Amino acid sequence: NADSAMYISKESGRDNYHFYSSTVQEKAYEQLLEEMYLRRALENRELVLYYQPQVNIATGRLVGMEALLRWKHPKKGLISPAEFIPLAEDTGQIVPIDFWVLHTACKQNMAWQRAGLPSVPIAVNISGHTFGRENLIDFVNNVLHDTRMSPDALDLEITEGIAIQNLQTTIYKLNKLKSLGIQITIDDFGTGFSSLSYLSKFPIQKLKIGMTFIHNLHKDPTNSAIVKAVIAMAKSLQLTVIAEGVETDEQFEFLQGLQCDEFQGYLCSKAVTSEEMGRFLAKNAGKLL
Ligand code: C2E
Ligand code: MG
Ligand code: MG
Ligand code: MG
Repeated sequence: NADSAMYISKESGRDNYHFYSSTVQEKAYEQLLEEMYLRRALENRELVLYYQPQVNIATGRLVGMEALLRWKHPKKGLISPAEFIPLAEDTGQIVPIDFWVLHTACKQNMAWQRAGLPSVPIAVNISGHTFGRENLIDFVNNVLHDTRMSPDALDLEITEGIAIQNLQTTIYKLNKLKSLGIQITIDDFGTGFSSLSYLSKFPIQKLKIGMTFIHNLHKDPTNSAIVKAVIAMAKSLQLTVIAEGVETDEQFEFLQGLQCDEFQGYLCSKAVTSEEMGRFLAKNAGKLL
């Protein structure tokens, strides 16, 4: 597309033009194209939600789920969020995307309920940009109102990094969200600057142990020490603790031994379509594991 190419050379500056190697130029061009495609993805309904079960370790029952975004790219097929969330974050497109995810997840939850399936809380990821928006609380409130979903079935996942950026504002916002009746989870816990002193100030309900600690549990004793400490800390703060990325029986048994509350991971299931999740919900009277 000629317009995009012109835009790049203007942006680079006429004089600087020759300093850029063709590969840098090509990369910038590709990035711009991807950005345009991503912008259209939402309008063209190419974004879809998948859902991953969260299982209670003691009972083996389905107790929650996480909504995870996928992009059905017209040419490239199903693209994982790791490939386009960073771009969406750089360009600010993540805000409308997160808002769409929130709305879609709540609508889906209600659709399952209308189909007579049990109501299971649904977790939605909120990026730093979105958490920083002043209209976040209004938006969440409107979605709950529009969909008539019960707030206690909604769980927002934020990462530690976001949470400690501006402590006072974060605490204010989290309290507002709590007053709506929704839950807050700290995602990827342990990968940032976890500290007991700030954690105890946050009105949160759940800690999710980062996947890297789980994957390296039996490779590196430091990881098992960290996981033990996080579970103990969560318990002392009366927080629910969930481990993500659980793939093996060995990892599961380790967590069970420490009385970790819940897990999420390929050992039970990867993220699945809404239809497949509907079947999991129908089975919820029985056990998933
Ligand atoms: P996350 O929120 O930490 O999500 C967990 C990721 O781990 C998911 O990857 C999930 O599919 C993957 N996973 C779960 N169990 C296992 C396992 O046993 N083994 C392995 N190897 N992986 C497992 P996914 O879906 O590719 O998402 C990656 C990240 O993209 C998410 O990490 C989250 O940070 C972000 N993301 C996904 N959806 C959204 C969204 O709607 N909004 C925002 N802002 N970010 C999102
Ligand atoms: Mg998450
Ligand atoms: Mg995570
Ligand atoms: Mg994450």
